[in-house]
Parts: sequence; C-alpha cells; structure tokens
Amino acid sequence: ARKRLLKLKKTPAVTRDGTPITLLANIELPDDCPAALDAGASGVGLFRSEFLFMGRGATVLKVPSEDEQFEQYRKAVVAMKGRPVTIRTLDVGADKPLDPTEHTALNPALGLRAIRYCLAEPQLFLTQLRAILRASAFGKVRILIPMLAHAFEIDQTLSMIEQAKAQLREEGIKYDPAVEVGAMIEIPAAALALPMFVKRMDFLSIGTNDLIQYLLAIDRVDYEVAHLYNPLHPAVLMLIAQTIATGQKAGLDVAVCGEMAGDAKLTRLLLGMGLREFSMHPAQLLAVKQEILNSDLAAITSRTRRILRSIEPNEIAAAVEQLQSL
Ligand code: PEP
Ligand code: MG
Repeated sequence: ARKRLLKLKKTPAVTRDGTPITLLANIELPDDCPAALDAGASGVGLFRSEFLFMGRGATVLKVPSEDEQFEQYRKAVVAMKGRPVTIRTLDVGADKPLDPTEHTALNPALGLRAIRYCLAEPQLFLTQLRAILRASAFGKVRILIPMLAHAFEIDQTLSMIEQAKAQLREEGIKYDPAVEVGAMIEIPAAALALPMFVKRMDFLSIGTNDLIQYLLAIDRVDYEVAHLYNPLHPAVLMLIAQTIATGQKAGLDVAVCGEMAGDAKLTRLLLGMGLREFSMHPAQLLAVKQEILNSDLAAITSRTRRILRSIEPNEIAAAVEQLQSL
C-alpha cells in the first residue's frame, strides 16, 4: 500500500472533477524540508519556529540570535526551491515551555503563551520578525501569528512587523515588502469574531489542535480527558465550517494546519466544508492526496451539508464514515 502511495508523489492533487487542492507540510526544523519535498508538498504551511528556541536550557537570554534564526529560516526557504514557506512566530508556553524550570502557571494553556508572550517580550519578537523578513529576500515567505484573539493584538503585531521592516530599510537590508501576514484561528473567540481578522489579515490557518482544546475545555495534553477530545463534536464541526466559509467569502485563503488536516479519514469531510488547503506532517501527505484523487466534490459537499445540520454524535460519526464510500 505504501508503494502505491509513493507513486502519487508527482500526481497533482485534484479531486475527480478537477478541483485543485493545495497540500502543504508542517515542519519543525529546516532539516524537515527534504521530507516535505519528498512527499510532494507544494510548500510549508506551518514551520513551528519554537523548535529553534527549545532544548537550549533556554531562558530569554539563551534564545537564538537574529543571525542564527535568519540562517535557519533562509535554509528552509532555499530548501523549498521557490515554494512558499509559512513561518509561524514563536509559540511557546503551555505544552512548549521556553524554560521548563521557570514558574508554571496554574492554567498554562490559558496563560502567557504564543503571541501574548511575544508582545510581552517585544525585543525578542522584533528580533524574530527581522530574521523572518530577512529570509523573505530569498524566496516566498509568509508570516503566521499564533493564538490571536484580540483586535489590539493583531494591530500591535502588524505595527511591530512594520517597525521591523522600517529598521531593515534604514539599514539597507533586503526583504520582501509584500510578505503576507496571516492568523492562526485556534481560539474560539477568533473563529466567532472572524470578520475582525478578515479585515486585517492576508490569510488564515485553522489550528484545530488548540481550537478543539479551547472549544471543548479539555487539556490537549491531559490523558485523563483524552477521551473527550472529539474532532467530530458538532460544535467543532460547525465552527470549522463557518470559519472556512466566512474566510473564503472575504477572499482569503483558509488552510487547516492542525492534526485534522493530516487525518485521511477526515479529508472528505474537510473538502465538503469547502477546504482547499491542507497542511500536515509530511508522512501523512500521500494518504490525504489519495483521498482527494478519489473524491467526487459535488457528492461530498451535499452530504457534508447534511452532516453539519446533525447534532447527534452517533449519526455524525456514521455519516463521516459513509463519506469514504462515496
Ligand atoms: C494547532 O493548534 O492546531 C496547531 C497547528 O498548532 P500547535 O499544534 O503547534 O499548537
Ligand atoms: Mg496551536
């Protein structure tokens, strides 16, 4: 079966009726790029930059320098040979502490993490933004911001990006002035107030891992509640579908980069919701592509509409399984 999948490497990802689907890779380090290309990814949809910061016995003083970061981002951009590389800014805190010995909040997932942490450490954030912008002179780079919920966070972030650009300009350092900035939609409030994001952002990427955690109020790393972590909960499906539709209606590209995007059993459901951009671990990409190649979009879309009206978990689970036999 694996051999059959490998044959699909160069096959374009299109549904049976010819609709093209973008398949992107999630990476942790630039060294993951060859695997992404090998799986036929058309770019990087999520570069989890925090992996450059972790495991250094890290404190704020031990974070990688601007040059060090720049080299790593550039390495990824060059390795992807012109394909877009979406670099997510530092997403530390909660399950990914920068310094595991530092004070731990009682509810770290609700604490000073990701963009909240970056806005509280503007020097560290500015350094990263400069490094990413510098890498954008070497290929197509997109900047992705995690854990946004408030308009002022978006505005502060955008103004820091402008500040980083102004500094580089003054120093005569090259960057892509048209670099796109997008938001992770992974806090329910962000999904519910999507027009606030649509107005300010160039693209959206739905982080289903955190979105499910916060929507269902279950800690994604607590095994005692792992059985409650259900991507098919009707509230989860409604919110994802609504986010895709609202974002696309406004003309923005909307991707899913959480685990759901790499689960071939959910590919058709996401296609039926209108999703056209999936980002996942490279090892999952060919199985997802195979689902896409066998998908009849019209049939799947009308069936998914019915699934989204259902509020009975058993019915939903059965109907999602039936999508596979369409
Ligand atoms: C997510 O939350 O779905 C996501 C892609 O980001 P991470 O898993 O790194 O939090
Ligand atoms: Mg997340």
